[in-house]
Amino acid sequence: MLNNDCIFCKIIKGEIPSAKVYEDDKMLVFKDIEPKAKEHLLAVAKTHFKLLEEADEAGRGLVDYMLFKIPGIARKNGCENGYRLVINQGADAGQTVFHLHIHILGGQTLDW
Ligand code: AMP
Ligand code: ZN
Repeated sequence: MLNNDCIFCKIIKGEIPSAKVYEDDKMLVFKDIEPKAKEHLLAVAKTHFKLLEEADEAGRGLVDYMLFKIPGIARKNGCENGYRLVINQGADAGQTVFHLHIHILGGQTLDW
């Protein structure tokens, strides 16, 4: 289920361009427009939900699927020496896009 007012849903539908690095029927991975590391990808499920706690069983399955796929995608995109996964949840974490996404940060030593 996608949401008409959500920027990541618009990217999934192709209404907003993105630098895609991986796509299948369940997930999309594209480059973050304001990279916070040398390599900064965002993995999004092709279902709209805002927070982990809002994910139903199918949604949790998608998170599990993304975590299963991410290592290979990261390795092929400059993160062969390691990477960090970040999932911001809500205001205190600074979440700005309310469509669950997994940040993949790497391509350098992450000294923070
Ligand atoms: P968060 O702060 O965890 O909600 O992360 C949202 C991320 O989405 C930020 O790192 C933004 O730079 C990124 N972002 C916002 N709009 C776009 C876009 N159109 N294409 C790619 N990344 C985006
Ligand atoms: Zn969405």
